Amino acid sequence: MSRDLSGGFQPLLSLIKEKRLALFLDYDGTLVPIAEDPANAVLPESTCRLLKRLSGRFKVAIVSGRSLKDLKYRVGIEEITYVGNHGMEISSPAFTMRFDIGRRAGAELSSAANELRGLILKWPGTVLEVKEVSLSLHYKNLSGESEKLFYGEAREILDRVTTRGFLRVTGGKKIIELRSRALWHKGSAVKWIMGRGEFKDTFPLSIGDDLTDIDAFRAVKGKGLSVFVGGYEEEADYYCDSPASTLEMLSAILLEKS
Ligand SMILES: [Mg+2]
Repeated sequence: MSRDLSGGFQPLLSLIKEKRLALFLDYDGTLVPIAEDPANAVLPESTCRLLKRLSGRFKVAIVSGRSLKDLKYRVGIEEITYVGNHGMEISSPAFTMRFDIGRRAGAELSSAANELRGLILKWPGTVLEVKEVSLSLHYKNLSGESEKLFYGEAREILDRVTTRGFLRVTGGKKIIELRSRALWHKGSAVKWIMGRGEFKDTFPLSIGDDLTDIDAFRAVKGKGLSVFVGGYEEEADYYCDSPASTLEMLSAILLEKS
């Protein structure tokens, strides 16, 4: 049973009061509103300041589907731990990890990228993001019939590529992703981090807005708490309505714990 935070953050704040907190935060749709083109989802200066203050007080990890390089570039705070590619790449001042998807999966990924480059040329406004160990196809500005047609054509290409079994297709909010078949996800990365350095023995709070974040929620279950951004979600302990509420919540946590 997930509880609504729109009436105030007090129920959550009282549970973390005495805890040594570790924050696991998604980026798009959680810290910043989702942009039609992911390149435009810039971190506002005020959010950057808030993250700096949080990272001075708690352990903070940003856990995203973006590539590690892109994520670090967008946030740019040294003390933070960055998790890119849904957990496949991890980098912090104390440790780094890169999941090896293997040569054959890598080759399939690049052939899929080549075919999808042709597809997005046919559909203006769609975006292909090719990352080191995965790729994402964004179609936020398509709707109705064109969305259906585009999705069908994309799936046809991806299902063909994935029949050999090295990669798998996953989805989210108007996004199709091609990732390694290996069952390593945001939740695996969160667990891995929680066993390391100053993250050991912390109380994790995981905040995210999409299907892939639910793996992280499961990883903190019984150890900490989770918040889904954007409405009710059964798998989360709490939910709030938007990235603006996430920022309010983080400010309230900072205030409560300072
Ligand atoms: Mg997100």
